[in-house]
Amino acid sequence: LGDRLGGVFDTLTGRGALTERDVDAAMREIRKALLEADVALPVVKQFVAKVREEAVGERVIKAVKPGQQVVKIVNDALIQTLGGTLSEDDADMAAVRAASELNLNAKPPVVILMAGLQGSGKTTTTGKLALYLRERAKKKVMLASLDTNRPAAMDQLGMLADKSGTGFLPIVKGQSAVEITQRALKEAAKGGYDVLFLDTAGRTTINEELMAEVIEVARIAQPTETLLVADALTGQDAVETAARFNEALPLTGLVLTRIDGDGRGGAALSMKAVTGLPIKFLGTGEKLDGLEQFDAERLAGRILGQGDVVALVEKASALIDEKDAARAAEKMAKGEFDLDDLANQLGQMSKLGGMGGIMKLLPGMGKMKKQMDAMGGVDDNLLSRQRAVILSMTPWERKNPKLIKASRKKRIAAGSGVQVSEVNKLLKMHRQMSDMMKKMGKGGMAGMAAQMAG
Ligand code: GDP
Ligand code: MG
Repeated sequence: LGDRLGGVFDTLTGRGALTERDVDAAMREIRKALLEADVALPVVKQFVAKVREEAVGERVIKAVKPGQQVVKIVNDALIQTLGGTLSEDDADMAAVRAASELNLNAKPPVVILMAGLQGSGKTTTTGKLALYLRERAKKKVMLASLDTNRPAAMDQLGMLADKSGTGFLPIVKGQSAVEITQRALKEAAKGGYDVLFLDTAGRTTINEELMAEVIEVARIAQPTETLLVADALTGQDAVETAARFNEALPLTGLVLTRIDGDGRGGAALSMKAVTGLPIKFLGTGEKLDGLEQFDAERLAGRILGQGDVVALVEKASALIDEKDAARAAEKMAKGEFDLDDLANQLGQMSKLGGMGGIMKLLPGMGKMKKQMDAMGGVDDNLLSRQRAVILSMTPWERKNPKLIKASRKKRIAAGSGVQVSEVNKLLKMHRQMSDMMKKMGKGGMAGMAAQMAG
């Protein structure tokens, strides 16, 4: 999604504010991309309307591409829709964190009911949460399987209880889900357990029998948490599932599994928007440690697939002199990018955390950064040495780098305390950069960083 938005706006030349037309073009892309990410249509419509309103008239920060700025607006809207906050107020942040915690505020044994379709990951997630509560909160946990359809499912939960070091309600053949529930409540209370997980049976599709059973179990067990476990890869079906379960049961939260798969988290956006329930956890693997506490910012990043462009936009807008950057970009495009401009750019790059910092933030640069790290890391002293070389030149030399001959190079090298070869390298870099900029027809940090690294 991020790449696509960037692409749309690469063709834009407008400056100042995002026009309606700019935004319309972006909204079409966002719509398409969200649908591709399996977000349900009504949710997409609602979301696009919200982003559109915020984007129109937004002042374009000249140091960054308008596309990146729209990405940031989209990202912020995603965070809010997913239940996160943009506020840095302690109370707001605490409220958001609390929403993704399990509520154990009840007389023990606190009952947590796991609901969802078959194969959504209920049993696996039960094991993960049991381990989580035992390790993090030092809780004494019991697991009970209500899956009377498949004996193997009961054994599966028993094995997970062993692995996570938690208690397990012994299997008694021939009992109904309701009977098992009653026995579990009794045993958990008797054994002094803090938390009792009820892992329900699933069907592959929603049906009345399944619903009736789980409703009855919920009525008897009075769970403090009733979590709907859903597969992130189910896409559009997720909305139907979430809506039906939310009608039938007093759901308190969502767990989204298989977020490690190809799905891009669109289901999360849909389910959250349809139910209004907090997403509490994400399943990130088959093993017991494949559990993440939900974090709206991180998931928004995943849906956008844009790495930390957002962070770069924020940093750049805070640090870069907008006018300078715009002027440099224009000069580059015209091929008038001289060494004074390069010195300026180098200074700004240092402010952004040097090469290492910039490369970490740029999408698609991660691989290059790894390669450079393998070769001994990014040399951030390089930036200041390169700047020193330029500052040892006369103003005339900075405007006419092509005319710098051997004797001048020697003087410059001596003046800045480097070898002549480093002066040559800098001049070559400048030459390549201006060539590339001319070809690209525009400036920008990404091209610059790529050039310097290469
Ligand atoms: P249930 O029928 O709802 O109880 O689903 P299970 O817990 O039995 O999970 C069904 C399958 O999905 C199993 O093969 C699990 O290993 C797998 N699974 C569950 N959660 C995740 C997850 O977060 N990531 C991945 N990759 N696989 C998962
Ligand atoms: Mg199961």
